[in-house]
Parts: sequence; structure tokens; C-alpha cells
Amino acid sequence: MGLIGDDDYDYLYKVVLIGDSGVGKSNLLSRFSTNKFSLDFKSTIGVDYATRRIQLGGQIIKGQIWDSAGQERYRAMTSPYYRGALGALIVYDITRKVTFENVERWLRELRDHTDQTIVVMLAGNKADLAHLRAVPTDEAKAFAEREHMFFMETSALKAINVEKAFTQLLSRIYQGKSPKAL
Ligand code: GDP
Repeated sequence: MGLIGDDDYDYLYKVVLIGDSGVGKSNLLSRFSTNKFSLDFKSTIGVDYATRRIQLGGQIIKGQIWDSAGQERYRAMTSPYYRGALGALIVYDITRKVTFENVERWLRELRDHTDQTIVVMLAGNKADLAHLRAVPTDEAKAFAEREHMFFMETSALKAINVEKAFTQLLSRIYQGKSPKAL
């Protein structure tokens, strides 16, 4: 097998991150794309997406993961954000119930803008703050099942399930064998 070039890939998949402000979307993305965590609450305006390549079944899958760049403060994203997305990670914060209650609205918006075949994962982030938990795991899991979403509790801070969540999303999309071009 030859050397893998810096930007070689077999499949390119767009994945969008959605969910309320402050739930940890940008930290999940930087953890997955560069393995970093930032303790500062910083505006994500200006950051459109980050990429990361993984190998699945001998193929190189390039995930192009879009962050909402602060727009989610208005609790809605515009259609260019969703365009071409094959996967979505809807994030809530396990310590803030309202962020879980809003998942339904995010899901509805997502479904209004994307194809039925989109692969969706629900991520209950900040799982390291178990002592402050406000959303029971079972409740979130049952909701995810009803809505045909995958489910995982994650921690961007402690790097728990972050790799797993994104990899599972990308591999589910891959199993659907979507085209290389967006
Ligand atoms: P976003 O607005 O959804 O993009 O959220 P950010 O990624 O900016 O994170 C918001 C705040 O939550 C920041 O202060 C982060 O340091 C913190 N945070 C993000 N993920 C975690 C996590 O897994 N655990 C803990 N304890 N804090 C987190």
C-alpha cells in the first residue's frame, strides 16, 4: 500500500453539530479534530468546520464537522448550514434540563432541512459532572430510541465517548455508502 497523502480520502461526509449554546459543541469538535479541550467559554463565530480523517474497512473517511459558530444563540440555524449534511450530532448538557427539552426543537428543525436518511446521534455532554446531573440517562435513551437516534453520553473535558460518538456516526453514514462529493 502506498503512503497516504495529507488530504487523500475516499469519502467526504458533512456532519452538523446542533444544540443550545454552552452545551459543549465546539469542545466536542476540537476534542475530535485536534484532541484539545478549552476551558474558556469562547464565541465560536468565524469557525465553520473542522475535519478529521478516520479509516473504516480499508477506506479513508473524511468527516467535515460543522459547528454552529454562535448562530445557535437564536435557537435556529439557516438552511445553508444543513445543506448536504449526511449526519448530525444533537448535543445537550446533562446538567441543564432545558438544553435537553430543546432537543425536540433542534430535531424538528434538522428534519425540516435534511433528508430522511440523515444519521442522527443524541449526545448528553458533560457526563463528567455526574453530581450535577439533571437529565436521567434512561429518559434520554428512551427519547433517542423513539426518535430513531443513536445515543451516547459524552465528556469533551475528559474525552469520554467523543471518539466513539463521531466514529459511530461516520461509520453509519459509510454503511449507507453516500457519495464522495457533497
Ligand atoms: P458550545 O456553545 O455548545 O459550543 O459550548 P462550548 O464548547 O463553548 O462549551 C461551553 C462551556 O462548557 C465551556 O466553558 C466549556 O469549557 C464547558 N464544557 C464543554 N464540554 C464540557 C464537558 O464535557 N465537561 C465539562 N465539565 N465542561 C464542558
